[in-house]
Formats: sequence, structure tokens, C-alpha cells
Amino acid sequence: MEAGGEAIRGMDFSLTGKLSLVFSGEKGIMTGKKYFHMRKFCKRQKEDLEMNFTLGTYQAGKTTVLPVFIGQNVDQLGLKLSDYHGKKKDHVVWFDHNGTRFVVVGLGDVKKFELNKYRDAVAFGARAARKEGVNDVTVLLPEGTAYSKEDLVHTAAEGYVMGEYQFNKYKAKKEESTVKNITIASLDGDIAGLEDALNRGKIYGEGTVIARELNNEPTNKMRPYDLADFVENLFKDSGATVEIFKGEELEKLQYNGLIAVGRGSAHKPAMIKINFQNDKSKELTALVGKGLTFDVGGYSLKLSRDLSDMRMDMGGAAATVGAMYILTRLNAPVNVIGIIGTCENLIDNNAMLPGEIIEYRNGKTVSVGNTDAEGRLVLADALILSQELGATRVIDIATLTGACMRALGSKMSGLWANDESVGDTVKQAANFTGEKVWELPLFDEYEDLLYSPIADIANISSGDLGGAITAALFLRNFVGENQKWAHVDMAGPMAVNRSHSFSNEGATGYGARLLAEFAQR
Ligand SMILES: [Zn+2]
Repeated sequence: MEAGGEAIRGMDFSLTGKLSLVFSGEKGIMTGKKYFHMRKFCKRQKEDLEMNFTLGTYQAGKTTVLPVFIGQNVDQLGLKLSDYHGKKKDHVVWFDHNGTRFVVVGLGDVKKFELNKYRDAVAFGARAARKEGVNDVTVLLPEGTAYSKEDLVHTAAEGYVMGEYQFNKYKAKKEESTVKNITIASLDGDIAGLEDALNRGKIYGEGTVIARELNNEPTNKMRPYDLADFVENLFKDSGATVEIFKGEELEKLQYNGLIAVGRGSAHKPAMIKINFQNDKSKELTALVGKGLTFDVGGYSLKLSRDLSDMRMDMGGAAATVGAMYILTRLNAPVNVIGIIGTCENLIDNNAMLPGEIIEYRNGKTVSVGNTDAEGRLVLADALILSQELGATRVIDIATLTGACMRALGSKMSGLWANDESVGDTVKQAANFTGEKVWELPLFDEYEDLLYSPIADIANISSGDLGGAITAALFLRNFVGENQKWAHVDMAGPMAVNRSHSFSNEGATGYGARLLAEFAQR
């Protein structure tokens, strides 16, 4: 029996109507204390996700999130604000005025405004309202920006859902959320008719929350089969179909990279396929995610003080699941397949050894020089599958290299593309969702660094530098000639250790909105 996973298997994730997390205790999976804990959790979580969003007008007396620019006075409300209130900073200012409690959040200089500043502001407001324990909150749109009301309403709903989320289910003492109704309002006129933007924003936020939840789960609660079960339940009755290959079937299909990496764990690997071919007249797009539910590095053991973050080495898989959730909930007219290779990179008597050769099902051979460069070995199989399924547009996303993080820091991903148009589409999508990417080259001259004397290619560079680029070059070997392909290395923005933006402490859920937006473009 699997050591973990009850946490997810005990729940029924359903896509019919609102996202509901219903405890199914009758399955008899949990007993005693755990049962009680889970029931409590699901009740709370259900309430969290069932916040009710509406468009409306400002009403005195309700807690109101008020975003302001430097120098803005908000005359309509009779507030006396100083430049201090408009400065973008890591905290909010409470203001009681005429019976209304204002949560004033600075947006900085109006000339430097971008949607992410509003996303952050609303998330600060959501966290503040949660602390206050109120039921109803009004969120005002910023005034005087160049953005459409549609984009601002979308961003408000999205920012609220993301700011409100906390991963505290395993803490005895937690701050329960009381907020039920959120009204998005504008001081400078009517915002009726923007229900679609409101709904989209909310669903984008929920997709990100799902990705965060999957990543935040402790190692022993989120094994490869737990992820597979989660996906199966999430997309029940959603319009998407799920196929899961594991055990003998996986062996028969010879996903040998995935199998080799997963060999050292008692928790076996799986290949997950989520089909949402809602408009077959469109080009087939594959979203490919790396799903290492834990990575100790294998025999090339990682050396670090605290490796617990390596449970988030499934960040790409979480992004893929979140994106597919968004697309199905929107009933988006897309032709998309999500592909996830999931396993654990551990050590035991059967674990993959340095010096091994992996023979891929497309005939390519790879020599394993370093067992910690395992993500690319798994992605290679997923990319082969995308090709076999006939996807002509592919984006893969993975927490792939420390080198990428060292180059670009923790607030953006590396982007590589073999086609200018597909790279541009990713950049445009990232611009809209505020999930930053920075393009790096597929520099042919570095291909030599992947030379292997005994196989077609090695899984690790013979040099010390440019590791993020050589990883991308490795993956290119498994991309079809007719495939327009982009690769996103999200090792940097995988998680944050403080709640100082729309990303709360822990997993950021990076990539769910980016992939969903990409698929629709
Ligand atoms: Zn690794």
C-alpha cells in the first residue's frame, strides 16, 4: 500500500459547477483522528473556494480594499491621503472613515503601473480582510490607468483568489477565512457587463491555487499515484478525458526514461495524459509538465541543509494540471493535451546508476552521467509522446536547473523556443498573467558539451557553465522536426518564502495561468 496519499484520495474533486472538495468518508479510507482532521480541512477548503464574486458599486460601511497611486486623493470618498499611502510597499494601511474600514494599498507611480502591481495590491487586501474576520469585502479598481476595465476586473478577481489562499491544513492553529462575498467596484463609473472577465479571473485564480496545493503537499502525502488519482478525480465530468499509464502497461510502452528515474522508489512512476480537444479545427497543442514528486538527486545525491522544497520538483506538472483546470472550466475552444511524467528520484538497490544507458522508444540512446539531471530524462519521454500524438505546438515546463535560477533569480523563468512565433506567444501570455519569462538562446555550439562516447547523447554537460542552456539543448533532441516548441525552466519562481506579493508563502503555482493563456492564443 502507498504510504501517503490518503489526503487526496479521500476527497472528491469535481468540476461540475463550482470547484467542490467533498469528503467521502464512506469509502472508509480514513479513521480516527485523521478522519476528523480531513473533514475539518475539507469543510474549510470548500468555504475558501466558494467565495462569491459579483460586480457592483461602492457601499459605505463595508470593508473596502482601496488601491491608490502616489498623489491620488480619492475625493469621491472624502479621504485625506498623503503620498505615503500611494507608495508600493509590503504592507497596507487601515483607515476608518465614515463607518467604512478602508484597506489602503499603494500602487506606486501611475506612470510605472502594470497589472502585477494591482494583483499584488488586491492580494494584500485579501490577506488583510482575512485577518479582520469579515464576511463582505468590496475591492475597488484603480483609477487613471491605461488598462481596460475588463483586464482590471479579471486581475482583481484573480488577485483576490490567489491572495486569500493559505496552505495551513497541517497546522493545529490556523486562521480560518470568514470572507464570503467579494464585490468588485469602480468609483469612476459603471462596470456592469463584465461578468465574463470576472468569471475568467476567478477561474484563473483557482487554477493557480490548485497548482499551489499540489506542490505544497508534503512529500509523504503526494506520491506519483496520488498525483494521478488527483488528476483523475479533478477532471471527472469536466469534458476532458484522462488516461494513466502505470505498472506493466508503462513497461510495455517503454517510457524508459521515466521508468529508469523512478526505479529507486517503492512509489512507482506514471505517465498522465489529459485530453481536452474541445475544438479539433485548431492546431493540436501539448502542455508537458515534469512531475518529480520528490528528488533527492538519486546516487548523485543532493547536498543541502534542507531539501524539503524538492517536493516541489513537480512544479511543471502542477502548472499543467492547473492550466487544464482553467481551460476546462472556461470551456475554452482549444485543442489541447496535457502530458505529465511523474515519479520519485530516490535511492535503493534498484535505483538508476551513473553510467547507465537509457534506450528511448524513439530509438535515441542517452548515457546517464548524473542521476540528479533526471527531469530531462522524464521530459524526453513526455516530448516523444507529444510527437506521437500529433501535437505540432508544444510547451514544456519544469523546475529543471539550478543554473537557470542562478542566471535569472527567483522572479522569472528561462524561456527557449525553436520557433520565433511560439516564443513570442509565450512572452505575450506571460505579459498578461504577470508570470515573468526571459528568453535564452538554443546555442548550437554548446551541443558538443552533451557528447557521450557510448550513447547518442549524455544527460549532463561536460562543462561547468551554461547548464540551463545545455538542458534545453538536451530536450531539443526529443522534439519533432514539425513541432514548434517552447521550453520554460521555472526552478526560480517555483516558491517564495514570504507572502509579499500575490504569491503567498510556499508554492507560487507559477505557470498554470501562463500555460492556460498560451493555449488560448
Ligand atoms: Zn534532480
